[in-house]
Amino acid sequence: MINIEYKHTEIAVKKKLGQNFLTDRNITKKIVILSGAKAEDNILEIGPGFGALTRDLIACCPRFTVVEKDPKLAAFICSEYPQLTLIEGDFLQTDLEILTKERPLTVLGNIPYSITSPILFRLLEHRHLFLSATLMMQHEVAMRLVAKPGTKEYGILAVQMQAFCDVHYLFKVGRKVFRPQPKVDSAVIQIRPKKEEPMEDSEGFRKFVRAAFHQRRKTLLNNLKELYNVDSVGRNTLQRRAEALSIHELVQLFAALKPLL
Ligand code: SAH
Repeated sequence: MINIEYKHTEIAVKKKLGQNFLTDRNITKKIVILSGAKAEDNILEIGPGFGALTRDLIACCPRFTVVEKDPKLAAFICSEYPQLTLIEGDFLQTDLEILTKERPLTVLGNIPYSITSPILFRLLEHRHLFLSATLMMQHEVAMRLVAKPGTKEYGILAVQMQAFCDVHYLFKVGRKVFRPQPKVDSAVIQIRPKKEEPMEDSEGFRKFVRAAFHQRRKTLLNNLKELYNVDSVGRNTLQRRAEALSIHELVQLFAALKPLL
């Protein structure tokens, strides 16, 4: 068990909560600048911890909301930054609609790596509620988010996210700047939901993408034939693998398919 102490608060680091605290001020400053956050924005920081990012964010945006699950860290943030609105709880359970009554959110965070995917899929599901999300995550997940067709990283995460959002890789962060030090490097990514949705039935698209990539080595025909009527699609396309198709081609293929009942 590792204990970390900062300004008279000591916590036992919880792996389950993905607690790796940033110690490099240059990096927190860079995240805040690249996020483009402005004083008038409706900002939500996920997992402030001991406030590494919070401290630099507050310098340009005096009021915003933070959500922190660890009660000890929530108490720390509350006493250190009383001007912020603190939600003590789980981001995955937080009511985002309530937070966006007036304006969509600008999301920031060095997010808990134990729940990176659930956070990303939750943001995706609520993409109508935010303008941008600037997030630090494991480098490996960042690579899967921005992956291009024909690479081994290109899969469900890349297709789902890139179909609905513009995703930018901002910069890499080495593992040495965290306490405790994680076993992997990190990267900062920015996600901006597209103004125009590429299709109406995004739930149907989600199922289609899962099916298309279900067994990566199989052709689209083999992955899709049990679930969709594939007669309307050319054989050349069906003989390819999902990983070879661009996002645009996958969207077009989805539009051409009718689900079997
Ligand atoms: N932003 C801080 C801390 C990063 S560690 C820094 O950069 O130093 C991740 C933080 O997210 C921890 O404070 C952890 O307690 C918090 N956290 C973990 N799971 C969470 C959840 N489901 N909802 C909100 N916060 C969570």
